[in-house]
Amino acid sequence: MQTQQQTRTNSAVKDKHEASIEHFDVLIVGAGISGIAGAYHLRKECPDSNFVILESEESFGGTWWTHRSPGIRSDSDLHTFGYGFKPWIGPPIATAKEILSYMGEVIEENDLAQYIRYRHKILKADWSEVDGQWTVGAVRADTEETIKISANFLWMCQGYYRHNEGYTPNWDGMADFKGQIAHPENWPNDINYDGKKVVVIGSGATAATVVPAMAQTASHVTMLQRTPTFFRTGRNAIDIAEQLRNLRVDENWVHEITRRQIMTDQSAFTQRCLSEPQGVADELIGNIRNLLGPDYDVDTHFTPPYRPWRQRIAFVPDADMFKAIAAGKASVVTDHIDRFTETGILLQSNKTLDADIIVTATGFNMNVMGDIVFTIDGEALDWHDTLTYRGMMFTGVPNLAWVFGYFRGSWTIRSELIAEFVCRLLNHMRETGAKSVQPALRAEDEDMPLLDWMDEEDFNPNYLKRAVSILPRRGTKQEWRHTQDHWNEKKEFPAIDLEGEEFVYRWDTRSDMAAE
Ligand SMILES: Cc1cc2nc3c(=O)[nH]c(=O)nc-3n(C[C@H](O)[C@H](O)[C@H](O)COP(=O)(O)OP(=O)(O)OC[C@H]3O[C@@H](n4cnc5c(N)ncnc54)[C@H](O)[C@@H]3O)c2cc1C
Repeated sequence: MQTQQQTRTNSAVKDKHEASIEHFDVLIVGAGISGIAGAYHLRKECPDSNFVILESEESFGGTWWTHRSPGIRSDSDLHTFGYGFKPWIGPPIATAKEILSYMGEVIEENDLAQYIRYRHKILKADWSEVDGQWTVGAVRADTEETIKISANFLWMCQGYYRHNEGYTPNWDGMADFKGQIAHPENWPNDINYDGKKVVVIGSGATAATVVPAMAQTASHVTMLQRTPTFFRTGRNAIDIAEQLRNLRVDENWVHEITRRQIMTDQSAFTQRCLSEPQGVADELIGNIRNLLGPDYDVDTHFTPPYRPWRQRIAFVPDADMFKAIAAGKASVVTDHIDRFTETGILLQSNKTLDADIIVTATGFNMNVMGDIVFTIDGEALDWHDTLTYRGMMFTGVPNLAWVFGYFRGSWTIRSELIAEFVCRLLNHMRETGAKSVQPALRAEDEDMPLLDWMDEEDFNPNYLKRAVSILPRRGTKQEWRHTQDHWNEKKEFPAIDLEGEEFVYRWDTRSDMAAE
Protein backbone atom coordinates (compact mmCIF):
# COMPACT_ATOMS: atom_id res chain seq x y z
CA MET A 1 0.00 0.00 0.00
CA GLN A 2 1.30 3.49 -0.84
CA THR A 3 1.88 6.03 1.89
CA GLN A 4 0.51 9.56 1.51
CA GLN A 5 4.06 10.73 1.00
CA GLN A 6 4.60 8.20 -1.85
CA THR A 7 1.31 9.22 -3.46
CA ARG A 8 2.36 12.87 -3.31
CA THR A 9 5.78 12.00 -4.78
CA ASN A 10 4.19 9.91 -7.56
CA SER A 11 1.79 12.63 -8.54
CA ALA A 12 4.61 15.19 -8.40
CA VAL A 13 6.59 12.97 -10.79
CA LYS A 14 3.52 12.66 -13.03
CA ASP A 15 2.93 16.42 -12.98
CA LYS A 16 6.61 17.02 -13.73
CA HIS A 17 6.41 14.52 -16.59
CA GLU A 18 3.22 16.11 -17.93
CA ALA A 19 4.72 19.55 -17.54
CA SER A 20 7.59 18.43 -19.75
CA ILE A 21 5.20 17.55 -22.59
CA GLU A 22 5.20 20.31 -25.14
CA HIS A 23 1.73 21.70 -25.75
CA PHE A 24 0.24 23.35 -28.83
CA ASP A 25 -3.14 24.80 -29.71
CA VAL A 26 -3.15 22.86 -32.97
CA LEU A 27 -1.15 19.89 -34.20
CA ILE A 28 -1.18 19.31 -37.96
CA VAL A 29 -0.38 15.76 -39.11
CA GLY A 30 1.56 15.75 -42.38
CA ALA A 31 3.41 18.31 -44.49
CA GLY A 32 1.86 17.44 -47.84
CA ILE A 33 -0.16 19.88 -49.93
CA SER A 34 -2.99 19.80 -47.32
CA GLY A 35 -0.81 20.26 -44.22
CA ILE A 36 0.96 23.25 -45.76
CA ALA A 37 -2.45 24.70 -46.70
CA GLY A 38 -3.50 24.27 -43.06
CA ALA A 39 -0.38 26.05 -41.80
CA TYR A 40 -0.82 28.94 -44.25
CA HIS A 41 -4.46 29.48 -43.26
CA LEU A 42 -3.71 29.16 -39.53
CA ARG A 43 -1.03 31.87 -39.78
CA LYS A 44 -3.35 34.13 -41.71
CA GLU A 45 -6.70 33.49 -40.07
CA CYS A 46 -5.71 32.49 -36.51
CA PRO A 47 -2.51 34.52 -36.08
CA ASP A 48 -2.35 33.96 -32.31
CA SER A 49 -2.56 30.21 -32.53
CA ASN A 50 0.47 28.24 -31.55
CA PHE A 51 0.84 25.19 -33.78
CA VAL A 52 3.20 22.50 -35.03
CA ILE A 53 3.29 20.17 -38.04
CA LEU A 54 4.64 16.65 -37.49
CA GLU A 55 5.77 14.89 -40.65
CA SER A 56 7.19 11.38 -40.81
CA GLU A 57 9.25 11.94 -43.98
CA GLU A 58 12.44 13.97 -44.09
CA SER A 59 10.92 16.69 -46.25
CA PHE A 60 7.62 18.32 -47.24
CA GLY A 61 5.48 17.40 -50.25
CA GLY A 62 3.73 14.15 -49.23
CA THR A 63 2.71 12.37 -52.44
CA TRP A 64 5.14 14.47 -54.49
CA TRP A 65 8.04 13.69 -52.18
CA THR A 66 7.46 9.95 -51.80
CA HIS A 67 6.70 9.13 -55.46
CA ARG A 68 9.85 8.81 -57.55
CA SER A 69 8.82 6.65 -60.52
CA PRO A 70 9.69 7.81 -64.06
CA GLY A 71 7.53 10.60 -65.45
CA ILE A 72 5.80 11.27 -62.12
CA ARG A 73 3.46 14.23 -62.66
CA SER A 74 0.05 15.57 -61.69
CA ASP A 75 -2.96 14.76 -63.76
CA SER A 76 -4.80 17.80 -62.43
CA ASP A 77 -3.85 21.26 -63.61
CA LEU A 78 -1.78 23.19 -61.09
CA HIS A 79 -4.05 26.25 -61.19
CA THR A 80 -6.51 24.20 -59.14
CA PHE A 81 -4.12 21.66 -57.58
CA GLY A 82 -1.99 24.63 -56.48
CA TYR A 83 -3.26 27.01 -53.83
CA GLY A 84 -5.77 29.78 -54.39
CA PHE A 85 -3.35 32.24 -52.77
CA LYS A 86 -0.28 31.56 -54.90
CA PRO A 87 -0.41 31.83 -58.69
CA TRP A 88 0.83 28.92 -60.77
CA ILE A 89 2.78 30.26 -63.70
CA GLY A 90 4.10 27.11 -65.43
CA PRO A 91 2.40 24.63 -67.79
CA PRO A 92 -0.72 23.28 -66.05
CA ILE A 93 0.34 19.63 -65.74
CA ALA A 94 3.43 19.62 -63.53
CA THR A 95 6.14 17.17 -62.54
CA ALA A 96 6.63 16.17 -58.90
CA LYS A 97 9.81 18.28 -58.91
CA GLU A 98 7.92 21.37 -60.06
CA ILE A 99 5.20 20.82 -57.45
CA LEU A 100 7.83 20.46 -54.71
CA SER A 101 9.53 23.63 -55.85
CA TYR A 102 6.17 25.52 -55.76
CA MET A 103 5.48 24.19 -52.26
CA GLY A 104 9.01 25.17 -51.19
CA GLU A 105 8.28 28.74 -52.29
CA VAL A 106 5.01 28.75 -50.32
CA ILE A 107 6.88 27.60 -47.21
CA GLU A 108 9.60 30.20 -47.65
CA GLU A 109 7.36 33.14 -48.57
CA ASN A 110 5.12 32.49 -45.57
CA ASP A 111 7.85 31.57 -43.11
CA LEU A 112 6.31 28.15 -42.44
CA ALA A 113 9.52 26.10 -42.03
CA GLN A 114 9.73 27.04 -38.34
CA TYR A 115 6.54 25.06 -37.63
CA ILE A 116 7.50 21.77 -39.32
CA ARG A 117 9.21 18.88 -37.51
CA TYR A 118 10.36 16.24 -39.95
CA ARG A 119 11.05 12.54 -39.26
CA HIS A 120 8.32 12.46 -36.63
CA LYS A 121 6.00 9.53 -37.26
CA ILE A 122 2.88 9.68 -35.13
CA LEU A 123 1.85 6.27 -33.83
CA LYS A 124 -0.89 7.09 -31.34
CA ALA A 125 -3.27 9.82 -30.31
CA ASP A 126 -5.21 9.74 -27.06
CA TRP A 127 -8.06 12.09 -26.22
CA SER A 128 -8.65 12.90 -22.57
CA GLU A 129 -12.07 14.33 -21.86
CA VAL A 130 -10.95 15.52 -18.42
CA ASP A 131 -8.04 17.48 -19.85
CA GLY A 132 -9.88 18.45 -23.03
CA GLN A 133 -6.85 17.67 -25.15
CA TRP A 134 -5.03 15.13 -27.29
CA THR A 135 -1.74 13.53 -26.35
CA VAL A 136 0.15 12.33 -29.38
CA GLY A 137 2.94 9.75 -29.32
CA ALA A 138 5.49 9.89 -32.12
CA VAL A 139 8.76 8.20 -32.90
CA ARG A 140 11.67 10.14 -34.39
CA ALA A 141 13.19 8.42 -37.42
CA ASP A 142 16.61 10.00 -36.80
CA THR A 143 17.07 9.21 -33.09
CA GLU A 144 14.41 6.48 -32.60
CA GLU A 145 13.37 8.48 -29.55
CA THR A 146 9.68 8.38 -28.69
CA ILE A 147 8.15 11.72 -27.83
CA LYS A 148 4.82 13.02 -26.59
CA ILE A 149 3.16 16.23 -27.58
CA SER A 150 -0.21 17.48 -26.44
CA ALA A 151 -2.57 19.64 -28.45
CA ASN A 152 -6.06 21.03 -28.15
CA PHE A 153 -6.94 20.28 -31.73
CA LEU A 154 -5.75 17.68 -34.27
CA TRP A 155 -5.79 18.64 -37.92
CA MET A 156 -5.40 15.41 -39.89
CA CYS A 157 -3.63 16.12 -43.21
CA GLN A 158 -2.08 12.67 -43.58
CA GLY A 159 -3.61 11.86 -46.97
CA TYR A 160 -5.49 8.67 -47.68
CA TYR A 161 -2.97 5.96 -48.43
CA ARG A 162 0.08 4.33 -46.89
CA HIS A 163 3.22 5.99 -48.19
CA ASN A 164 6.10 3.78 -49.38
CA GLU A 165 3.94 0.66 -49.41
CA GLY A 166 1.77 0.42 -52.49
CA TYR A 167 -0.86 -2.23 -53.08
CA THR A 168 0.46 -5.30 -54.89
CA PRO A 169 -1.77 -8.35 -55.32
CA ASN A 170 -0.15 -11.63 -54.40
CA TRP A 171 0.22 -13.42 -57.73
CA ASP A 172 1.37 -17.03 -57.94
CA GLY A 173 5.00 -17.46 -58.91
CA MET A 174 6.19 -13.95 -58.07
CA ALA A 175 9.24 -15.41 -56.33
CA ASP A 176 10.14 -17.36 -59.49
CA PHE A 177 10.52 -14.23 -61.61
CA LYS A 178 14.22 -13.66 -62.31
CA GLY A 179 13.89 -9.99 -63.29
CA GLN A 180 13.13 -6.96 -61.15
CA ILE A 181 9.68 -6.08 -59.73
CA ALA A 182 9.06 -2.43 -58.80
CA HIS A 183 6.06 -0.59 -57.37
CA PRO A 184 5.83 3.12 -58.31
CA GLU A 185 5.35 3.99 -54.63
CA ASN A 186 8.59 2.36 -53.65
CA TRP A 187 10.77 2.98 -56.67
CA PRO A 188 14.24 1.40 -56.44
CA ASN A 189 17.13 3.84 -56.92
CA ASP A 190 19.17 1.32 -58.85
CA ILE A 191 16.65 0.36 -61.53
CA ASN A 192 17.94 0.69 -65.10
CA TYR A 193 15.40 0.09 -67.82
CA ASP A 194 17.38 1.26 -70.84
CA GLY A 195 16.94 -1.28 -73.63
CA LYS A 196 14.89 -3.57 -71.35
CA LYS A 197 11.51 -5.25 -71.86
CA VAL A 198 9.10 -3.75 -69.35
CA VAL A 199 5.59 -4.84 -68.39
CA VAL A 200 3.53 -2.29 -66.46
CA ILE A 201 0.56 -3.90 -64.68
CA GLY A 202 -2.32 -1.45 -64.33
CA SER A 203 -3.90 1.28 -66.41
CA GLY A 204 -4.68 4.13 -64.02
CA ALA A 205 -3.13 7.58 -63.87
CA THR A 206 0.19 6.20 -62.58
CA ALA A 207 0.51 3.67 -65.41
CA ALA A 208 -0.34 6.44 -67.87
CA THR A 209 2.69 8.42 -66.68
CA VAL A 210 5.12 5.52 -66.25
CA VAL A 211 4.43 3.96 -69.67
CA PRO A 212 5.40 6.92 -71.91
CA ALA A 213 8.32 7.89 -69.65
CA MET A 214 9.85 4.38 -69.67
CA ALA A 215 9.05 3.89 -73.37
CA GLN A 216 11.57 6.61 -74.21
CA THR A 217 14.55 4.35 -73.48
CA ALA A 218 13.19 0.84 -72.82
CA SER A 219 13.22 -1.62 -75.70
CA HIS A 220 9.45 -1.99 -75.30
CA VAL A 221 6.81 -1.27 -72.66
CA THR A 222 3.63 -3.35 -72.41
CA MET A 223 0.75 -2.00 -70.35
CA LEU A 224 -1.10 -5.04 -69.01
CA GLN A 225 -4.60 -4.28 -67.80
CA ARG A 226 -7.57 -6.27 -66.57
CA THR A 227 -10.08 -3.56 -67.38
CA PRO A 228 -9.75 -0.56 -69.70
CA THR A 229 -9.78 2.99 -68.31
CA PHE A 230 -11.17 6.26 -69.67
CA PHE A 231 -8.53 8.83 -70.62
CA ARG A 232 -8.71 12.46 -71.66
CA THR A 233 -5.99 14.07 -73.71
CA GLY A 234 -5.11 17.64 -74.60
CA ARG A 235 -2.35 20.21 -74.86
CA ASN A 236 -0.42 20.89 -71.69
CA ALA A 237 -1.70 24.45 -71.81
CA ILE A 238 -4.91 26.27 -70.96
CA ASP A 239 -6.37 28.60 -73.57
CA ILE A 240 -7.72 31.23 -71.21
CA ALA A 241 -4.44 31.46 -69.27
CA GLU A 242 -2.56 31.94 -72.54
CA GLN A 243 -4.97 34.62 -73.73
CA LEU A 244 -4.76 36.52 -70.44
CA ARG A 245 -0.98 36.33 -70.45
CA ASN A 246 -0.90 37.62 -74.03
CA LEU A 247 -2.87 40.59 -72.73
CA ARG A 248 -0.24 40.99 -70.00
CA VAL A 249 -2.81 40.48 -67.24
CA ASP A 250 -1.33 40.21 -63.75
CA GLU A 251 -0.52 36.57 -62.78
CA ASN A 252 -2.80 36.76 -59.72
CA TRP A 253 -5.71 37.45 -62.02
CA VAL A 254 -4.61 34.85 -64.56
CA HIS A 255 -4.55 32.27 -61.75
CA GLU A 256 -7.96 33.17 -60.34
CA ILE A 257 -9.75 33.44 -63.68
CA THR A 258 -8.17 30.22 -64.96
CA ARG A 259 -9.20 28.41 -61.75
CA ARG A 260 -12.78 29.53 -62.16
CA GLN A 261 -12.84 28.51 -65.82
CA ILE A 262 -11.39 25.09 -65.04
CA MET A 263 -13.79 24.43 -62.17
CA THR A 264 -16.74 25.52 -64.29
CA ASP A 265 -15.63 23.22 -67.14
CA GLN A 266 -15.01 20.32 -64.72
CA SER A 267 -18.40 20.71 -63.15
CA ALA A 268 -20.13 20.80 -66.56
CA PHE A 269 -18.18 17.70 -67.63
CA THR A 270 -19.10 15.81 -64.43
CA GLN A 271 -22.77 16.73 -64.94
CA ARG A 272 -22.62 15.45 -68.50
CA CYS A 273 -21.05 12.17 -67.29
CA LEU A 274 -24.14 11.71 -65.10
CA SER A 275 -26.80 12.98 -67.49
CA GLU A 276 -25.50 11.64 -70.81
CA PRO A 277 -22.91 8.98 -69.95
CA GLN A 278 -23.05 7.25 -73.33
CA GLY A 279 -22.47 10.51 -75.21
CA VAL A 280 -19.42 11.31 -73.07
CA ALA A 281 -18.09 7.74 -73.35
CA ASP A 282 -18.43 7.93 -77.16
CA GLU A 283 -16.50 11.22 -77.21
CA LEU A 284 -13.69 9.93 -74.99
CA ILE A 285 -13.36 6.65 -76.87
CA GLY A 286 -13.67 8.44 -80.24
CA ASN A 287 -10.73 10.66 -79.28
CA ILE A 288 -8.57 7.57 -78.59
CA ARG A 289 -9.69 6.06 -81.92
CA ASN A 290 -8.50 9.20 -83.69
CA LEU A 291 -5.15 9.06 -81.92
CA LEU A 292 -4.50 5.37 -82.59
CA GLY A 293 -5.98 5.02 -86.08
CA PRO A 294 -8.73 2.87 -87.58
CA ASP A 295 -6.85 -0.44 -87.32
CA TYR A 296 -6.26 -0.28 -83.57
CA ASP A 297 -8.50 -2.48 -81.39
CA VAL A 298 -9.97 0.33 -79.28
CA ASP A 299 -13.03 -1.80 -78.42
CA THR A 300 -10.85 -4.24 -76.46
CA HIS A 301 -8.26 -1.91 -74.95
CA PHE A 302 -9.90 1.48 -74.44
CA THR A 303 -13.62 0.83 -73.95
CA PRO A 304 -14.33 0.63 -70.20
CA PRO A 305 -17.36 -1.37 -69.01
CA TYR A 306 -18.52 1.40 -66.62
CA ARG A 307 -19.84 4.93 -67.16
CA PRO A 308 -17.34 7.81 -67.19
CA TRP A 309 -16.37 9.16 -63.76
CA ARG A 310 -17.23 6.09 -61.71
CA GLN A 311 -13.46 5.89 -61.51
CA ARG A 312 -10.93 8.68 -61.86
CA ILE A 313 -10.44 9.78 -65.48
CA ALA A 314 -6.75 10.29 -66.09
CA PHE A 315 -5.57 13.22 -68.19
CA VAL A 316 -2.72 12.42 -70.60
CA PRO A 317 -0.99 15.66 -71.59
CA ASP A 318 -0.02 15.95 -75.24
CA ALA A 319 -1.38 12.38 -75.59
CA ASP A 320 2.16 11.14 -74.91
CA MET A 321 1.08 7.62 -73.94
CA PHE A 322 -0.94 7.26 -77.13
CA LYS A 323 1.93 8.61 -79.21
CA ALA A 324 4.20 5.93 -77.68
CA ILE A 325 1.60 3.25 -78.57
CA ALA A 326 1.14 4.59 -82.12
CA ALA A 327 4.94 4.59 -82.56
CA GLY A 328 5.19 0.94 -81.48
CA LYS A 329 7.30 1.82 -78.41
CA ALA A 330 4.47 0.73 -76.11
CA SER A 331 1.51 -1.61 -76.43
CA VAL A 332 -1.55 -2.65 -74.44
CA VAL A 333 -2.66 -6.15 -73.46
CA THR A 334 -6.09 -6.67 -71.88
CA ASP A 335 -6.10 -10.00 -70.08
CA HIS A 336 -5.89 -11.63 -66.65
CA ILE A 337 -2.69 -12.82 -64.98
CA ASP A 338 -2.47 -16.56 -64.41
CA ARG A 339 0.96 -16.52 -62.74
CA PHE A 340 4.43 -15.04 -62.87
CA THR A 341 7.11 -17.21 -64.48
CA GLU A 342 10.91 -17.03 -64.47
CA THR A 343 10.84 -14.87 -67.59
CA GLY A 344 7.65 -12.87 -67.31
CA ILE A 345 3.91 -13.39 -66.99
CA LEU A 346 1.63 -16.22 -68.10
CA LEU A 347 -1.83 -14.88 -68.94
CA GLN A 348 -5.14 -16.69 -68.52
CA SER A 349 -5.49 -16.66 -72.31
CA ASN A 350 -2.32 -18.83 -72.27
CA LYS A 351 -0.24 -16.13 -73.92
CA THR A 352 3.02 -15.12 -72.24
CA LEU A 353 4.57 -11.71 -71.78
CA ASP A 354 8.38 -11.67 -71.55
CA ALA A 355 9.81 -9.08 -69.19
CA ASP A 356 13.10 -7.94 -67.67
CA ILE A 357 11.23 -5.56 -65.36
CA ILE A 358 7.65 -5.74 -64.08
CA VAL A 359 6.15 -2.53 -62.71
CA THR A 360 3.14 -3.09 -60.47
CA ALA A 361 1.13 0.11 -60.96
CA THR A 362 -1.67 -1.58 -59.04
CA GLY A 363 -2.66 1.19 -56.69
CA PHE A 364 -2.64 2.19 -53.06
CA ASN A 365 -3.12 0.63 -49.70
CA MET A 366 -5.66 3.03 -48.40
CA ASN A 367 -5.35 3.83 -44.72
CA VAL A 368 -7.40 5.87 -42.32
CA MET A 369 -5.73 8.67 -40.35
CA GLY A 370 -2.15 7.67 -41.15
CA ASP A 371 -2.39 4.30 -39.34
CA ILE A 372 -2.41 6.19 -36.04
CA VAL A 373 -3.99 4.25 -33.16
CA PHE A 374 -6.63 6.48 -31.57
CA THR A 375 -8.20 6.21 -28.15
CA ILE A 376 -10.93 8.31 -26.56
CA ASP A 377 -10.57 8.28 -22.79
CA GLY A 378 -8.65 5.01 -23.00
CA GLU A 379 -11.19 3.28 -25.29
CA ALA A 380 -9.87 2.19 -28.70
CA LEU A 381 -11.52 4.21 -31.46
CA ASP A 382 -12.90 2.25 -34.42
CA TRP A 383 -13.46 4.79 -37.20
CA HIS A 384 -16.15 2.59 -38.74
CA ASP A 385 -18.25 3.24 -35.61
CA THR A 386 -18.21 6.96 -36.30
CA LEU A 387 -20.37 8.98 -38.68
CA THR A 388 -18.81 11.73 -40.71
CA TYR A 389 -19.90 15.34 -40.59
CA ARG A 390 -19.33 16.58 -44.18
CA GLY A 391 -16.35 14.25 -44.60
CA MET A 392 -14.24 16.30 -42.18
CA MET A 393 -15.38 15.72 -38.56
CA PHE A 394 -16.68 12.61 -36.82
CA THR A 395 -19.29 11.82 -34.20
CA GLY A 396 -17.75 10.89 -30.85
CA VAL A 397 -14.36 12.38 -31.79
CA PRO A 398 -13.73 15.80 -30.25
CA ASN A 399 -11.44 18.52 -31.60
CA LEU A 400 -10.38 16.79 -34.78
CA ALA A 401 -10.73 17.63 -38.47
CA TRP A 402 -9.76 15.41 -41.39
CA VAL A 403 -8.81 16.60 -44.84
CA PHE A 404 -10.12 14.35 -47.57
CA GLY A 405 -10.01 16.26 -50.85
CA TYR A 406 -11.86 15.96 -54.13
CA PHE A 407 -11.26 13.13 -56.56
CA ARG A 408 -13.11 14.58 -59.53
CA GLY A 409 -11.58 18.00 -59.13
CA SER A 410 -8.25 18.84 -57.56
CA TRP A 411 -7.75 17.58 -54.02
CA THR A 412 -6.35 20.90 -52.84
CA ILE A 413 -9.49 22.90 -53.59
CA ARG A 414 -11.20 21.01 -50.77
CA SER A 415 -8.12 21.16 -48.50
CA GLU A 416 -8.41 24.94 -48.59
CA LEU A 417 -12.20 24.97 -48.08
CA ILE A 418 -11.69 22.78 -45.00
CA ALA A 419 -8.78 24.98 -43.84
CA GLU A 420 -11.02 28.05 -43.91
CA PHE A 421 -13.73 26.18 -42.01
CA VAL A 422 -11.31 24.88 -39.36
CA CYS A 423 -9.89 28.37 -38.78
CA ARG A 424 -13.42 29.78 -38.44
CA LEU A 425 -14.27 27.01 -35.95
CA LEU A 426 -11.09 27.60 -33.93
CA ASN A 427 -11.76 31.34 -33.79
CA HIS A 428 -15.34 30.67 -32.72
CA MET A 429 -14.12 28.40 -29.91
CA ARG A 430 -11.62 30.99 -28.81
CA GLU A 431 -14.27 33.72 -28.76
CA THR A 432 -16.79 31.61 -26.83
CA GLY A 433 -14.20 29.97 -24.56
CA ALA A 434 -15.19 26.47 -25.69
CA LYS A 435 -12.58 23.81 -24.93
CA SER A 436 -13.96 21.10 -27.18
CA VAL A 437 -16.36 20.51 -30.02
CA GLN A 438 -17.69 17.41 -31.69
CA PRO A 439 -20.46 16.82 -34.19
CA ALA A 440 -23.58 14.92 -33.11
CA LEU A 441 -26.79 13.90 -34.82
CA ARG A 442 -29.58 16.45 -34.50
CA ALA A 443 -33.06 15.40 -33.42
CA GLU A 444 -34.10 15.55 -37.09
CA ASP A 445 -31.29 13.08 -38.01
CA GLU A 446 -32.14 10.36 -35.51
CA ASP A 447 -33.80 8.01 -38.03
CA MET A 448 -31.35 8.67 -40.83
CA PRO A 449 -30.01 5.44 -42.37
CA LEU A 450 -26.25 4.94 -41.84
CA LEU A 451 -24.33 3.80 -44.90
CA ASP A 452 -20.78 2.98 -45.89
CA TRP A 453 -18.46 5.91 -46.68
CA MET A 454 -18.65 5.42 -50.40
CA ASP A 455 -21.65 5.41 -52.71
CA GLU A 456 -20.54 2.67 -55.11
CA GLU A 457 -23.04 3.82 -57.72
CA ASP A 458 -21.34 7.20 -57.83
CA PHE A 459 -17.61 6.47 -57.46
CA ASN A 460 -16.02 3.09 -56.88
CA PRO A 461 -12.26 2.78 -57.30
CA ASN A 462 -10.86 -0.49 -55.95
CA TYR A 463 -8.74 1.07 -53.18
CA LEU A 464 -11.88 2.65 -51.68
CA LYS A 465 -13.82 -0.61 -52.01
CA ARG A 466 -11.03 -2.47 -50.20
CA ALA A 467 -11.13 0.03 -47.31
CA VAL A 468 -14.84 0.45 -46.70
CA SER A 469 -14.79 -1.59 -43.47
CA ILE A 470 -12.20 0.70 -41.87
CA LEU A 471 -13.63 4.01 -43.07
CA PRO A 472 -16.15 6.08 -41.09
CA ARG A 473 -19.76 5.85 -42.19
CA ARG A 474 -22.01 8.42 -43.81
CA GLY A 475 -25.67 9.34 -43.62
CA THR A 476 -28.06 10.19 -46.40
CA LYS A 477 -28.22 13.93 -45.76
CA GLN A 478 -25.77 16.41 -47.27
CA GLU A 479 -24.36 17.32 -43.82
CA TRP A 480 -23.42 13.74 -43.07
CA ARG A 481 -21.59 12.82 -46.28
CA HIS A 482 -18.33 13.46 -48.04
CA THR A 483 -19.53 14.86 -51.34
CA GLN A 484 -17.58 15.62 -54.49
CA ASP A 485 -19.77 18.64 -55.11
CA HIS A 486 -17.44 21.62 -55.00
CA TRP A 487 -19.97 24.23 -56.08
CA ASN A 488 -22.33 23.34 -53.26
CA GLU A 489 -19.56 23.06 -50.67
CA LYS A 490 -18.10 26.38 -51.77
CA LYS A 491 -21.42 28.01 -50.87
CA GLU A 492 -22.28 25.84 -47.87
CA PHE A 493 -19.00 25.68 -45.91
CA PRO A 494 -18.64 29.43 -45.27
CA ALA A 495 -22.32 29.54 -44.28
CA ILE A 496 -22.19 26.68 -41.75
CA ASP A 497 -23.81 27.90 -38.52
CA LEU A 498 -21.26 27.08 -35.83
CA GLU A 499 -23.99 27.37 -33.21
CA GLY A 500 -26.06 24.75 -35.05
CA GLU A 501 -27.47 21.79 -33.12
CA GLU A 502 -24.97 19.46 -34.84
CA PHE A 503 -22.05 21.01 -32.91
CA VAL A 504 -21.70 20.00 -29.27
CA TYR A 505 -19.31 22.20 -27.29
CA ARG A 506 -17.80 21.80 -23.84
CA TRP A 507 -16.48 24.68 -21.82
CA ASP A 508 -14.90 23.08 -18.77
CA THR A 509 -11.75 20.97 -18.36
CA ARG A 510 -9.94 19.41 -15.40
CA SER A 511 -8.18 22.68 -14.58
CA ASP A 512 -11.48 24.57 -14.63
CA MET A 513 -13.07 21.96 -12.38
CA ALA A 514 -10.11 22.07 -9.99
CA ALA A 515 -10.45 25.84 -9.77
CA GLU A 516 -14.16 25.63 -8.86
C1 LIG B 1 1.08 9.50 -58.17
C2 LIG B 1 -0.08 10.30 -57.69
C3 LIG B 1 -0.57 11.35 -58.46
C4 LIG B 1 -1.65 12.09 -57.99
N1 LIG B 1 -2.09 13.13 -58.78
C5 LIG B 1 -3.12 13.87 -58.34
C6 LIG B 1 -3.60 14.97 -59.11
O1 LIG B 1 -3.11 15.28 -60.18
N2 LIG B 1 -4.63 15.67 -58.63
C7 LIG B 1 -5.22 15.39 -57.44
O2 LIG B 1 -6.15 16.07 -57.04
N3 LIG B 1 -4.79 14.36 -56.68
C8 LIG B 1 -3.76 13.61 -57.10
N4 LIG B 1 -3.32 12.56 -56.33
C9 LIG B 1 -3.90 12.32 -55.02
C10 LIG B 1 -2.95 13.01 -53.99
O3 LIG B 1 -2.51 12.11 -53.04
C11 LIG B 1 -3.61 14.19 -53.36
O4 LIG B 1 -4.14 15.01 -54.30
C12 LIG B 1 -2.68 15.07 -52.49
O5 LIG B 1 -1.35 15.08 -52.88
C13 LIG B 1 -2.83 14.65 -51.10
O6 LIG B 1 -2.20 15.62 -50.32
P1 LIG B 1 -2.21 15.50 -48.76
O7 LIG B 1 -1.30 16.54 -48.24
O8 LIG B 1 -3.62 15.54 -48.28
O9 LIG B 1 -1.68 14.02 -48.47
P2 LIG B 1 -0.28 13.35 -48.85
O10 LIG B 1 0.29 13.92 -50.09
O11 LIG B 1 -0.56 11.89 -48.82
O12 LIG B 1 0.68 13.79 -47.66
C14 LIG B 1 0.43 13.34 -46.36
C15 LIG B 1 1.68 13.54 -45.53
O13 LIG B 1 1.38 13.12 -44.21
C16 LIG B 1 2.45 12.35 -43.73
N5 LIG B 1 1.95 11.38 -42.75
C17 LIG B 1 1.05 10.39 -42.96
N6 LIG B 1 0.85 9.67 -41.85
C18 LIG B 1 1.64 10.23 -40.89
C19 LIG B 1 1.89 9.92 -39.53
N7 LIG B 1 1.29 8.89 -38.92
N8 LIG B 1 2.78 10.69 -38.85
C20 LIG B 1 3.40 11.74 -39.45
N9 LIG B 1 3.21 12.06 -40.75
C21 LIG B 1 2.34 11.32 -41.46
C22 LIG B 1 3.02 11.65 -44.95
O14 LIG B 1 4.37 11.29 -44.76
C23 LIG B 1 2.84 12.72 -46.03
O15 LIG B 1 3.97 13.53 -46.15
C24 LIG B 1 -2.26 11.78 -56.76
C25 LIG B 1 -1.77 10.71 -56.01
C26 LIG B 1 -0.70 9.98 -56.47
C27 LIG B 1 -0.19 8.86 -55.63
